Amino acid sequence: MSGQASELRPIVVAANWKMHKLRSEALEYLEDLGTWMDDHPRGLGTRVEVVVAPPFTSLELAVEHRPPHARIYAQTMHQSDQGAFTGEVSPAMLRDLGVDGVLLGHSERRQYFNEHDGALSEKVVAAAEFGLRAMLCVGETLDERQGGRAEDVVRDQLQTALSDLDVIKATSSGLSVAYEPVWAIGTGETATAEIAQGMHATIRDVLGSIFTAEIAERIPVLYGGSVKPANAAELLGQPDIDGALVGGAALEVESFSGIVSAGLDLVAGAGV
Ligand code: PEP
Repeated sequence: MSGQASELRPIVVAANWKMHKLRSEALEYLEDLGTWMDDHPRGLGTRVEVVVAPPFTSLELAVEHRPPHARIYAQTMHQSDQGAFTGEVSPAMLRDLGVDGVLLGHSERRQYFNEHDGALSEKVVAAAEFGLRAMLCVGETLDERQGGRAEDVVRDQLQTALSDLDVIKATSSGLSVAYEPVWAIGTGETATAEIAQGMHATIRDVLGSIFTAEIAERIPVLYGGSVKPANAAELLGQPDIDGALVGGAALEVESFSGIVSAGLDLVAGAGV
Protein backbone atom coordinates (compact mmCIF):
# COMPACT_ATOMS: atom_id res chain seq x y z
CA MET A 1 0.00 0.00 0.00
CA SER A 2 1.46 3.35 -0.90
CA GLY A 3 1.32 6.33 1.46
CA GLN A 4 -0.77 9.43 0.91
CA ALA A 5 0.99 12.28 -0.84
CA SER A 6 3.22 9.81 -2.65
CA GLU A 7 4.71 11.02 -5.91
CA LEU A 8 2.44 8.63 -7.79
CA ARG A 9 -0.92 10.31 -7.31
CA PRO A 10 -2.04 13.90 -6.84
CA ILE A 11 -4.70 14.82 -4.30
CA VAL A 12 -7.78 15.82 -6.29
CA VAL A 13 -10.44 18.01 -4.69
CA ALA A 14 -13.55 18.33 -6.85
CA ALA A 15 -16.58 20.61 -6.48
CA ASN A 16 -19.83 19.12 -7.79
CA TRP A 17 -22.26 22.01 -8.03
CA LYS A 18 -25.10 19.70 -9.12
CA MET A 19 -28.10 21.82 -10.31
CA HIS A 20 -27.02 24.97 -8.48
CA LYS A 21 -25.91 28.48 -9.42
CA LEU A 22 -27.08 30.91 -12.05
CA ARG A 23 -24.38 32.34 -14.30
CA SER A 24 -23.87 35.45 -12.16
CA GLU A 25 -23.41 33.26 -9.06
CA ALA A 26 -21.09 30.97 -10.96
CA LEU A 27 -18.92 33.90 -12.05
CA GLU A 28 -18.66 35.25 -8.52
CA TYR A 29 -17.63 31.82 -7.22
CA LEU A 30 -15.02 31.31 -9.94
CA GLU A 31 -13.50 34.72 -9.32
CA ASP A 32 -13.39 34.19 -5.56
CA LEU A 33 -11.89 30.73 -5.95
CA GLY A 34 -9.35 32.12 -8.40
CA THR A 35 -8.33 34.79 -5.89
CA TRP A 36 -7.99 32.16 -3.16
CA MET A 37 -5.91 29.94 -5.43
CA ASP A 38 -3.67 32.87 -6.41
CA ASP A 39 -2.97 33.38 -2.70
CA HIS A 40 -2.16 29.67 -2.13
CA PRO A 41 0.01 28.71 -5.09
CA ARG A 42 2.31 26.22 -3.37
CA GLY A 43 1.42 22.72 -4.49
CA LEU A 44 -1.72 23.74 -6.37
CA GLY A 45 -1.96 22.25 -9.83
CA THR A 46 0.89 19.85 -9.19
CA ARG A 47 0.41 17.92 -5.95
CA VAL A 48 -3.13 19.15 -5.27
CA GLU A 49 -5.52 19.44 -8.20
CA VAL A 50 -8.77 21.38 -8.08
CA VAL A 51 -11.78 20.43 -10.21
CA VAL A 52 -15.00 22.41 -10.61
CA ALA A 53 -18.05 20.71 -12.15
CA PRO A 54 -20.78 23.28 -12.92
CA PRO A 55 -24.09 22.55 -14.65
CA PHE A 56 -24.08 22.76 -18.46
CA THR A 57 -25.37 26.35 -18.45
CA SER A 58 -22.23 27.63 -16.72
CA LEU A 59 -19.66 25.39 -18.41
CA GLU A 60 -18.56 27.87 -21.07
CA LEU A 61 -18.32 30.64 -18.49
CA ALA A 62 -16.29 28.35 -16.22
CA VAL A 63 -13.86 27.54 -19.03
CA GLU A 64 -13.46 31.26 -19.80
CA HIS A 65 -12.99 32.18 -16.13
CA ARG A 66 -11.16 29.02 -15.10
CA PRO A 67 -9.27 29.64 -11.86
CA PRO A 68 -5.50 29.14 -12.24
CA HIS A 69 -4.60 25.43 -12.27
CA ALA A 70 -8.24 24.34 -11.92
CA ARG A 71 -9.88 21.86 -14.27
CA ILE A 72 -13.48 22.21 -15.42
CA TYR A 73 -15.60 19.07 -15.62
CA ALA A 74 -19.13 18.47 -16.90
CA GLN A 75 -21.46 16.49 -14.64
CA THR A 76 -22.51 13.95 -17.28
CA MET A 77 -22.50 13.34 -21.03
CA HIS A 78 -23.89 11.01 -23.70
CA GLN A 79 -21.60 8.36 -25.15
CA SER A 80 -22.22 9.20 -28.86
CA ASP A 81 -20.41 12.03 -30.60
CA GLN A 82 -23.68 13.19 -32.21
CA GLY A 83 -27.19 11.95 -32.94
CA ALA A 84 -30.89 12.12 -32.21
CA PHE A 85 -30.67 12.23 -28.42
CA THR A 86 -32.80 15.21 -27.42
CA GLY A 87 -31.52 16.98 -24.34
CA GLU A 88 -28.17 15.22 -24.29
CA VAL A 89 -24.65 16.64 -24.67
CA SER A 90 -21.88 14.76 -26.48
CA PRO A 91 -18.18 14.33 -25.70
CA ALA A 92 -17.39 16.20 -28.93
CA MET A 93 -19.45 19.17 -27.71
CA LEU A 94 -17.69 19.20 -24.33
CA ARG A 95 -14.31 19.03 -26.02
CA ASP A 96 -15.33 21.83 -28.38
CA LEU A 97 -16.18 23.97 -25.34
CA GLY A 98 -12.72 23.43 -23.83
CA VAL A 99 -13.98 21.33 -20.93
CA ASP A 100 -11.29 19.16 -19.31
CA GLY A 101 -13.27 16.22 -18.03
CA VAL A 102 -16.57 14.73 -16.98
CA LEU A 103 -18.15 13.03 -13.99
CA LEU A 104 -19.64 9.70 -15.00
CA GLY A 105 -22.07 7.51 -13.09
CA HIS A 106 -22.81 9.86 -10.22
CA SER A 107 -25.33 8.10 -7.97
CA GLU A 108 -27.95 10.77 -8.69
CA ARG A 109 -27.60 10.02 -12.41
CA ARG A 110 -27.88 6.30 -11.69
CA GLN A 111 -30.86 6.76 -9.36
CA TYR A 112 -32.95 9.38 -11.18
CA PHE A 113 -31.82 9.14 -14.81
CA ASN A 114 -31.28 5.43 -15.22
CA GLU A 115 -27.59 5.71 -16.03
CA HIS A 116 -26.48 2.10 -15.96
CA ASP A 117 -23.13 0.37 -16.03
CA GLY A 118 -23.45 -0.75 -19.67
CA ALA A 119 -23.80 2.83 -20.93
CA LEU A 120 -21.08 3.90 -18.53
CA SER A 121 -18.55 1.57 -20.10
CA GLU A 122 -19.23 3.28 -23.45
CA LYS A 123 -19.02 6.71 -21.83
CA VAL A 124 -15.66 5.94 -20.22
CA VAL A 125 -14.23 4.92 -23.59
CA ALA A 126 -15.83 7.91 -25.38
CA ALA A 127 -14.38 10.32 -22.82
CA ALA A 128 -10.87 8.93 -23.38
CA GLU A 129 -11.29 9.11 -27.16
CA PHE A 130 -12.28 12.78 -26.98
CA GLY A 131 -9.49 13.72 -24.58
CA LEU A 132 -11.80 14.19 -21.60
CA ARG A 133 -10.70 13.07 -18.14
CA ALA A 134 -13.36 10.72 -16.75
CA MET A 135 -14.17 10.65 -13.04
CA LEU A 136 -16.12 7.43 -12.58
CA CYS A 137 -18.37 7.42 -9.51
CA VAL A 138 -19.19 4.16 -7.75
CA GLY A 139 -20.80 3.32 -4.44
CA GLU A 140 -23.31 1.11 -2.66
CA THR A 141 -26.73 1.96 -1.23
CA LEU A 142 -27.57 1.57 2.45
CA ASP A 143 -29.49 -1.67 1.74
CA GLU A 144 -26.53 -3.10 -0.11
CA ARG A 145 -24.17 -2.22 2.75
CA GLN A 146 -26.50 -3.58 5.39
CA GLY A 147 -26.87 -6.75 3.33
CA GLY A 148 -23.09 -7.20 3.37
CA ARG A 149 -22.84 -6.62 -0.39
CA ALA A 150 -21.02 -3.27 -0.49
CA GLU A 151 -17.72 -4.61 -1.84
CA ASP A 152 -19.37 -6.85 -4.43
CA VAL A 153 -21.50 -3.97 -5.71
CA VAL A 154 -18.54 -1.64 -6.08
CA ARG A 155 -16.41 -4.37 -7.65
CA ASP A 156 -19.15 -5.07 -10.24
CA GLN A 157 -19.61 -1.37 -11.00
CA LEU A 158 -15.88 -0.96 -11.66
CA GLN A 159 -15.51 -4.12 -13.71
CA THR A 160 -18.48 -3.33 -15.95
CA ALA A 161 -17.67 0.33 -16.46
CA LEU A 162 -13.92 -0.05 -17.02
CA SER A 163 -13.56 -3.37 -18.80
CA ASP A 164 -13.53 -1.83 -22.30
CA LEU A 165 -10.98 0.87 -21.53
CA ASP A 166 -7.59 0.32 -23.10
CA VAL A 167 -4.90 -0.29 -20.45
CA ILE A 168 -2.74 2.53 -21.82
CA LYS A 169 -5.67 4.96 -21.74
CA ALA A 170 -6.35 4.12 -18.08
CA THR A 171 -3.59 6.49 -17.03
CA SER A 172 -2.93 8.60 -20.12
CA SER A 173 -6.56 9.76 -20.27
CA GLY A 174 -6.55 11.11 -16.70
CA LEU A 175 -9.06 8.61 -15.33
CA SER A 176 -10.01 8.88 -11.67
CA VAL A 177 -12.54 7.02 -9.54
CA ALA A 178 -14.79 8.50 -6.84
CA TYR A 179 -16.11 6.18 -4.15
CA GLU A 180 -19.38 7.69 -2.97
CA PRO A 181 -21.46 5.52 -0.64
CA VAL A 182 -25.00 6.54 -1.60
CA TRP A 183 -26.07 6.66 2.07
CA ALA A 184 -23.46 9.35 2.75
CA ILE A 185 -24.29 11.73 -0.12
CA GLY A 186 -26.02 14.89 1.00
CA THR A 187 -27.06 13.24 4.27
CA GLY A 188 -24.47 14.73 6.61
CA GLU A 189 -23.45 11.16 7.36
CA THR A 190 -19.84 10.41 6.42
CA ALA A 191 -18.26 6.99 6.12
CA THR A 192 -15.70 6.63 8.90
CA ALA A 193 -12.15 7.02 7.70
CA GLU A 194 -11.71 3.31 8.42
CA ILE A 195 -14.71 2.23 6.28
CA ALA A 196 -13.68 4.55 3.47
CA GLN A 197 -10.05 3.43 3.55
CA GLY A 198 -11.14 -0.23 3.48
CA MET A 199 -13.24 0.31 0.39
CA HIS A 200 -10.56 2.40 -1.29
CA ALA A 201 -8.03 -0.39 -0.78
CA THR A 202 -10.52 -2.81 -2.37
CA ILE A 203 -11.04 -0.41 -5.27
CA ARG A 204 -7.29 -0.24 -5.84
CA ASP A 205 -7.10 -4.04 -5.87
CA VAL A 206 -9.94 -4.21 -8.39
CA LEU A 207 -8.26 -1.55 -10.57
CA GLY A 208 -5.10 -3.67 -10.37
CA SER A 209 -6.99 -6.71 -11.61
CA ILE A 210 -8.65 -4.77 -14.46
CA PHE A 211 -5.44 -2.99 -15.53
CA THR A 212 -2.16 -3.71 -13.70
CA ALA A 213 -1.07 -3.09 -10.10
CA GLU A 214 1.33 -0.42 -11.35
CA ILE A 215 -1.42 1.44 -13.19
CA ALA A 216 -3.76 1.10 -10.20
CA GLU A 217 -1.17 2.92 -8.09
CA ARG A 218 -1.43 5.89 -10.44
CA ILE A 219 -5.21 6.29 -10.56
CA PRO A 220 -6.54 8.77 -7.97
CA VAL A 221 -9.45 7.34 -5.94
CA LEU A 222 -11.50 10.11 -4.34
CA TYR A 223 -13.96 9.78 -1.48
CA GLY A 224 -17.34 11.54 -1.66
CA GLY A 225 -20.14 11.77 0.86
CA SER A 226 -20.63 14.74 3.19
CA VAL A 227 -16.97 15.81 3.10
CA LYS A 228 -16.43 19.17 4.81
CA PRO A 229 -13.45 21.11 6.15
CA ALA A 230 -13.89 19.48 9.59
CA ASN A 231 -13.49 15.89 8.35
CA ALA A 232 -11.32 16.41 5.26
CA ALA A 233 -7.91 16.04 6.90
CA GLU A 234 -8.73 12.70 8.47
CA LEU A 235 -10.21 11.29 5.27
CA LEU A 236 -7.45 12.62 3.00
CA GLY A 237 -4.85 11.29 5.45
CA GLN A 238 -5.80 7.68 4.65
CA PRO A 239 -3.28 5.89 2.47
CA ASP A 240 -5.69 5.05 -0.37
CA ILE A 241 -7.87 8.17 -0.27
CA ASP A 242 -6.51 10.54 -2.88
CA GLY A 243 -8.99 13.34 -2.77
CA ALA A 244 -12.59 14.34 -2.27
CA LEU A 245 -15.64 14.80 -4.48
CA VAL A 246 -17.69 17.40 -2.66
CA GLY A 247 -21.32 18.45 -3.11
CA GLY A 248 -22.92 20.56 -0.40
CA ALA A 249 -19.71 21.91 1.12
CA ALA A 250 -18.43 22.90 -2.33
CA LEU A 251 -21.19 25.42 -2.96
CA GLU A 252 -19.37 28.13 -1.02
CA VAL A 253 -15.76 29.02 -1.78
CA GLU A 254 -14.98 29.34 1.91
CA SER A 255 -15.83 25.73 2.78
CA PHE A 256 -14.54 24.28 -0.50
CA SER A 257 -11.20 26.05 -0.10
CA GLY A 258 -11.07 24.70 3.47
CA ILE A 259 -11.07 21.19 2.00
CA VAL A 260 -8.44 22.11 -0.59
CA SER A 261 -6.36 23.53 2.29
CA ALA A 262 -6.52 20.17 4.08
CA GLY A 263 -4.96 18.61 0.97
CA LEU A 264 -2.28 21.29 0.75
CA ASP A 265 -1.42 20.83 4.46
CA LEU A 266 -1.08 17.10 3.96
CA VAL A 267 1.27 17.55 1.05
CA ALA A 268 3.31 20.17 2.88
CA GLY A 269 3.51 17.89 5.94
CA ALA A 270 4.75 15.02 3.79
CA GLY A 271 7.37 17.29 2.28
CA VAL A 272 6.48 16.47 -1.32
C1 PEP B 1 -21.71 14.52 -4.33
O1 PEP B 1 -22.70 15.01 -4.82
O2 PEP B 1 -20.90 14.01 -5.09
C2 PEP B 1 -21.54 14.57 -2.88
C3 PEP B 1 -20.58 13.87 -2.36
O3 PEP B 1 -22.41 15.38 -2.18
P1 PEP B 1 -22.25 15.81 -0.63
O4 PEP B 1 -20.83 16.27 -0.43
O5 PEP B 1 -23.23 16.88 -0.44
O6 PEP B 1 -22.53 14.59 0.19
